[in-house]
Amino acid sequence: MTPAPILEVKDLTTKLQIGNDIWTLVDKLNFSLYQGQTLAIVGESGCGKSLTALSLMRILPRPPALPSTGQVLYQGRNLLEIKEKEMRGIRGAKISMIFQDPMSSLNPVFTIGDQLMEVAALHLGLYGEEAWDHARKALESVGISSVEERLSSYPHQLSGGLKQRVMIAMALMCKPDILIADEPTTALDVTIQAQVLELIRTLQRETGMALLLITHDMGVVAEMADDVIVMYMAQGIECGHVEDIFYHRAHPYTMGLFQSRPSLEHRKDKLIPIPGHVPSFKHIPNGCRFHPRCPWAMEKCRHDAIPFFSVQGDDHVARCVLYDGTVESMEKLRLLDSEAR
Ligand code: SF4
Repeated sequence: MTPAPILEVKDLTTKLQIGNDIWTLVDKLNFSLYQGQTLAIVGESGCGKSLTALSLMRILPRPPALPSTGQVLYQGRNLLEIKEKEMRGIRGAKISMIFQDPMSSLNPVFTIGDQLMEVAALHLGLYGEEAWDHARKALESVGISSVEERLSSYPHQLSGGLKQRVMIAMALMCKPDILIADEPTTALDVTIQAQVLELIRTLQRETGMALLLITHDMGVVAEMADDVIVMYMAQGIECGHVEDIFYHRAHPYTMGLFQSRPSLEHRKDKLIPIPGHVPSFKHIPNGCRFHPRCPWAMEKCRHDAIPFFSVQGDDHVARCVLYDGTVESMEKLRLLDSEAR
């Protein structure tokens, strides 16, 4: 029997109101997250992946954000509808988040110890020596040495890698069911990146937590993800297991993402940037949002919204008419395949 998802997101939609304009920056996103699973959301900057994470945690500033709609089901409750007081008990305790820039989450005027002890008090009801002890163990669990010294340090006294470890320690202090990591290694040196990813993986193995990984880095996806959602202009446009996305990618945008990044395998091939620019959210194209940039666009791509079509079974789907099974699309697919080879 398939286990129940730990988090189920249905039609999540987030809009921002700027002046008289309302922009839809996350548009009817759907996914399920299971215990122990790593689901990566990938895409270029501005595609809506970070806003998805902030919407799930309900930490987008309002205004300009409007209340998100849809459902974010955790333990049978829709997190978008519960009271803020109840959400505070879940945020940081059951669902934690780490950000690209640890300084945006660490308070520069308090020591690391004070900040960890505050989390212990808020979510675990621990104070004094007990909280200090918990903070010490949290730092040890993420491989930080000279723990007592670190607890008395201020954030600016730590390196970038150490600060990110502190953030992870803080995020995992309450043994959350879900960790949302938004570009967790982008600001770090390559060697530190590898250590932080390995640390997250080890902690995930030990605790069974689910990981929602937000990244633009396909190397990190290859290293960490079980499943992948590719986003473009606020929508999920391809979903599948990580092998599907790496070896059988189907949506022309996903193909473009791969062709435009360097890889060891194809290091002699020329990098091919995706043509054109991501349009402004003020002027979302009709039909397929990628059609102004897509070399395979057909007349039917330009008008109506494009649903998901199966690429291979139910698990690998793409929002692209190349997979609608019509003669015209199959002909285009054959051409695309022969070009790819
Ligand atoms: S739906 Fe049409 S325009 Fe959009 S990606 Fe597929 S072929 Fe290209």
